[in-house]
Amino acid sequence: MNVMPRLLYVLQALPISLTRLFKELDSIFLSFIWPKGRPRVKTHLLRRPQLEGGLALPDARLYFYAAQLTRIMDWMLIGSDKLCLDLEERLAGRPLWTVPWLPPQLLRPDIPPSGLYRDTLLVWWRIRGPFGLSPSLSPLLPLQHHPGFCPGTGTSLHRRFTDGTRLFLFQVLQNDVVTIPGPDGDDTLSFGDRFALHRLRHFVRSLPRGFRHLTPFETFCKLALPLSKSISTIYALLQKCDTSLPPLCGCWETILELDFTPETFYLTLYGSRAFKVIETSYKLLTFWYYTPHQTAHFSLSCDSICWRCGTQTGTYLHIWWTCEKIAVFLLHLPGKQRTLRNSVALHLLLAARRLIPAHWRSLEVPSFTEWVEAIEQLRAVDNVAAQQSDRQDPHHLLKWFYWDGFRT
Ligand SMILES: [Zn+2]
Repeated sequence: MNVMPRLLYVLQALPISLTRLFKELDSIFLSFIWPKGRPRVKTHLLRRPQLEGGLALPDARLYFYAAQLTRIMDWMLIGSDKLCLDLEERLAGRPLWTVPWLPPQLLRPDIPPSGLYRDTLLVWWRIRGPFGLSPSLSPLLPLQHHPGFCPGTGTSLHRRFTDGTRLFLFQVLQNDVVTIPGPDGDDTLSFGDRFALHRLRHFVRSLPRGFRHLTPFETFCKLALPLSKSISTIYALLQKCDTSLPPLCGCWETILELDFTPETFYLTLYGSRAFKVIETSYKLLTFWYYTPHQTAHFSLSCDSICWRCGTQTGTYLHIWWTCEKIAVFLLHLPGKQRTLRNSVALHLLLAARRLIPAHWRSLEVPSFTEWVEAIEQLRAVDNVAAQQSDRQDPHHLLKWFYWDGFRT
């Protein structure tokens, strides 16, 4: 979607706090997708990545958060030549790399009334917990420039923990206890360092308990390096926060009387890169097609019987799988996911499934010739995908070996 680069430019060039813009953008996006009526699929479902049941619809709010988090990562850079950072550091009144990890109650009195520094910091405090970026006391809590630990560790003790210029909480802890690294521990410390160590231990004991490991975002920040494709990387990180299965998964569990893992459920969207197949899979998963059983509920004049066989109720399961008129297309598929992905049987089934909506509400049953043509189209797309792939897929030719024999 070419609107996103334009929007991202604005979000990055003017990283000010925004609130109302996103609702308006969402309504514009949705009016583009559903120009003639109300949305038929929930927006948060459309925003998921394609292989997780969504259509990768851009989420402008998440992109805005990603732009703001990129600035947090800029604050962590060592020796950055970005001139704006000097200005912000002046506004902050302390090194920027300490700001994200200090407790908000210590920083609030010093926040300027306006400006980019303030906006980014307020957004960071708002999203760090809900998105799991830094949900509680961070292992990156600075032990320098900390308003609650003014004496600091002193240069000599600092060097016992790290050669770097920055000292974080996680660098002084071993099994949640402040420990000098090395075999001699604190036996060789001078009197002054021993005193500073006791002061440091006292400070660490005053912190909330339950020290944790670094989150993925904190790990990026700890590296203090420019991140390539930072916006899209952080956007994907924010999307991972939503780990729940789509609500439609529960409907399918009820219909099929099975329990799904996320991997099994999303397997429905694998199989072919052909857009038509992905579209059919997606519409199938989201109950896009109205079956006779459903339309009979809307209108008394509609018949709930299957239009193909004329004997059974036209439920979703019947129309797509169990109708005797399409029994010829039903295949016994191998059970294991890996076997299925490397099998031509999956393509045969996907091609057959594509033909069902092509003959929707028609007495005509998909013909064998149509099926073969549909499989050939999938074969062509699979060939192109294999040629474009960086890695040679050893299963590709093997997969189509018997099909090629059949065609010749
Ligand atoms: Zn039927």
